[in-house]
Amino acid sequence: MKLEQGLGLEAFATALIERRGGVVQPQGDGLCAALLTPGLSGEATESLVTLAFDPDQAREAPDALMVTYGSPLLDRWVAEALKKGRTCRLWIRGLRTHPKALPSPSSALSVEGADLRFGDGVPRGFGTTVFSFRVGFHSDEREEERRAIVVDTFYGRVVRQFLERLGRADLAEDPGEALGLDPAERPDAGRLYEVAREELERGLLSDLQVRKLALEARRERELGRISSYFDQSVSELTEELADARDDPEQSQRLLGKIAAVQTERTRQLSQVRAKHDLSVRAGLSSVLEVVQPKVVFPCRIEAPRLPATEFTLVWDPFLETWLAPPCPTCGKPTTRFVVKRLKGLSCPLCEAGVAKAGKPGR
Ligand SMILES: [Zn+2]
Repeated sequence: MKLEQGLGLEAFATALIERRGGVVQPQGDGLCAALLTPGLSGEATESLVTLAFDPDQAREAPDALMVTYGSPLLDRWVAEALKKGRTCRLWIRGLRTHPKALPSPSSALSVEGADLRFGDGVPRGFGTTVFSFRVGFHSDEREEERRAIVVDTFYGRVVRQFLERLGRADLAEDPGEALGLDPAERPDAGRLYEVAREELERGLLSDLQVRKLALEARRERELGRISSYFDQSVSELTEELADARDDPEQSQRLLGKIAAVQTERTRQLSQVRAKHDLSVRAGLSSVLEVVQPKVVFPCRIEAPRLPATEFTLVWDPFLETWLAPPCPTCGKPTTRFVVKRLKGLSCPLCEAGVAKAGKPGR
């Protein structure tokens, strides 16, 4: 069981470069020679480069360009793929953002040991990105399916229950009266793609476990069927052999036949064992960006003998939920804050020493 190269950066880069008219020549161990067309190289002309997909290989080949999440090269490529691939932008209209239509922000957050103050809510344009992937499971059978991962463009978090609601939304292909996206709030496309990809891979790995169990059960049944078929043949031939004990020529022929049946039995069993290898491939097939207004409330936490902390609390009128702001210490979303005089502001998990500092927004 494995996640194939089809899921990796190297496969993404190869497909993109070749689709844009470039050439990729794998050199093994995560290194590739590539001819990049101007759109992908960022140069005015075609350029010949070596690409490294693994930091260890990049050290071995100091002239190679490192392609990894967060590298400028990959960011440019993902942006390029989104620009020229099957992408679409829609606006959600008719959402209620008037202050009277909103719940009170003070119901959304709590803080121990400090004062929490809110400014007035202001509607702003926010994006949500829907990444659609084509996924293929390969074993003795082939199955194709599509999966969509939805990522909040502002915080870079995976969003649930978005597509279920989208079918009932008032969608338009032009903004109309709606708010545009604030360019300053637009995170890099590569970062959003990384979040979607990781979420997809998590789901696929757990699916692979389930499929592996089903596959093993199917394999056991098939092995059993083959074994009993050949056992039956051997026992019939053995009976014939007993009947032919006075005929040396016939006995010899039957012994040869039994040996041949045994060989065929072994061959078929090992064939069944070998063909039940399981793998999965996935590729990005389309991207939909949905723009909608959300309401941004400035918040300020003031605690004695600590500098004030300012952040924003966002109300999503489409999902009818508050977006929990990130904990200033660990970056994980939280609706409860704890103030400690020496440590400053954190979430209850940090306070309990449970949270590990990670990438913000997870
Ligand atoms: Zn925390």
